[in-house]
Amino acid sequence: MGYIKDGLTPEAASSICIDRCRAQCCRGPLLLSLSEEEKLTFDRKANDMNRPLRTIPFARSWIVKFEDHQGDCCPMLDMESMKCLIYDDRPIQCKEFPSRPIKGCEISCD
Ligand code: SF4
Ligand code: SF4
Repeated sequence: MGYIKDGLTPEAASSICIDRCRAQCCRGPLLLSLSEEEKLTFDRKANDMNRPLRTIPFARSWIVKFEDHQGDCCPMLDMESMKCLIYDDRPIQCKEFPSRPIKGCEISCD
């Protein structure tokens, strides 16, 4: 979380994401980029949780299109709790978000 608002703790940010924003960046017409290693983690977790997963090869990585999945969500999002089901193992793109100031993101600096 490189561009997180000054003074916002990870716990407070997480609460905003889940309770107020309802995980807007984990759903909708968005793409997630996975490295080979992250794709293996997605494959394993999706298999363990019996969740459908579609990944598209792209250059030397993989793409997950949220629109290809139930509810137009990331396949690793629990749509009831709005929590990430693989939080500790989430991809670097998720760990580093927001990686720049993002308009409309409550936890992002301006
Ligand atoms: S858009 Fe910002 S506030 Fe909303 S879930 Fe994503 S990181 Fe959290
Ligand atoms: S892996 Fe987790 S944090 Fe990343 S988009 Fe999916 S649900 Fe959100």
